[in-house]
Amino acid sequence: MLKALLARVAQGHRTAAYPDREPALPARFRGRPELDPTRCPEGCQACVDACPTGALSADRAMMSLDLGRCLFCIECTRACPNGALEFTQDYRLAARKRSELVVTGPAVTRAPERALALARELRSLFGRSLKLRQVSAGGCNGCESDVNVLGTLVFDLGRFGIQFVASPRHADGLLITGPVMENMRLALKKTYDAVPEPKIVVAVGACAISGGPYIDHPEAHNGADAVVPVDLYVPGCPPHPYTILEGLLGLLGRLEQRPLSAQPAQPADEPPAGALKWGIERAEDGMRHLGVDLGKGPSSQEPKGSP
Ligand code: SF4
Ligand code: SF4
Repeated sequence: MLKALLARVAQGHRTAAYPDREPALPARFRGRPELDPTRCPEGCQACVDACPTGALSADRAMMSLDLGRCLFCIECTRACPNGALEFTQDYRLAARKRSELVVTGPAVTRAPERALALARELRSLFGRSLKLRQVSAGGCNGCESDVNVLGTLVFDLGRFGIQFVASPRHADGLLITGPVMENMRLALKKTYDAVPEPKIVVAVGACAISGGPYIDHPEAHNGADAVVPVDLYVPGCPPHPYTILEGLLGLLGRLEQRPLSAQPAQPADEPPAGALKWGIERAEDGMRHLGVDLGKGPSSQEPKGSP
C-alpha cells in the first residue's frame, strides 16, 4: 500500500491543465485547414479529384473545404502539386451551424470563430451540470473511442460537470456518432423523444455531420440532422478529444473569458521524471501475473486460461 501511495506521489497530478493552458498536440495532428487558391495552376482540380467525400471545391478565385465532410486523410495535400492546402495544428473546429464548417480561401492566419454559446437560460440550466446520452448510430467506433477518452484522468470530463448517463430520461441531451444508418433511425428518434425538454444535440464526427465515408450510401441518412435538430457540430474523423471538449465548453459558455489566439500555443507537457519507467514496470508486473514470460516476447505467449 505504501508503495502504491509513493508511486502516486511520484506520478503527480496527471489531469491536463486545459482550458487554463493550451494542450500539446502531436506533430502529426491535423486541424483547421488553410487554403491558398492563388497557388493553384490554371484548371487544376487534383485535390478535388483526390477527395473521397466531395469536401473540396477549387478554382483560382476561391477554394472551399467542408469540414463536415472532411476525413482529414490528407489525400488532397498529397495530390496538390503546389501546397495550396495545409492542415494546421488548430484543434478548435466545432460550430453551431452546419454552414460555419465550410472553410474558404485565400488563406489568412486568423483566429477561428468560436461556436456560439447556448442562450442564457439554457446555459443557466446546463452550464454547471450537463448529462448526455451517447447514441452510436452506425459509425466505426473511432468517434466513440475519442468520446470515451474524455472520461479518463487526462481529460476528466466530470470536472466540468459533464457526464454520460445510461437513460435518455436522465439526460439533458444527446451526443450522436455515426452516419445514422437506416436501422438506427427509429432508435435515434425514439431516444431523442425520450429526453425531456429543453434538450441539446451534439453531432460528433464526419459521419454524424454528413455521413463521412458512408456519404450517400442508400442505407445512410448522411448525418444526425436528417433525423433530429443539431445544436453543435464537431468535425473530425474522429475528432481529437480536445476538439470535442472545446466544442462542449464553448457551447456552455465556459470559454468566454479565454481569448482566441490565431494559433494556439503548444507548451510541452512533459510527464514527471520516472513516471514512464514506473508505468512500464507495473505493466510488466501485470503481464507476469498473467503468466506471460516477457523474456520470450509477447507474441509467442498466451495469458493463462486462454483457449
Ligand atoms: S483531407 Fe478532407 S478535403 Fe482532403 S482529401 Fe481527405 S477528406 Fe477530402
Ligand atoms: S467520423 Fe470517422 S472515426 Fe467517426 S465514426 Fe465515422 S468513420 Fe469512424
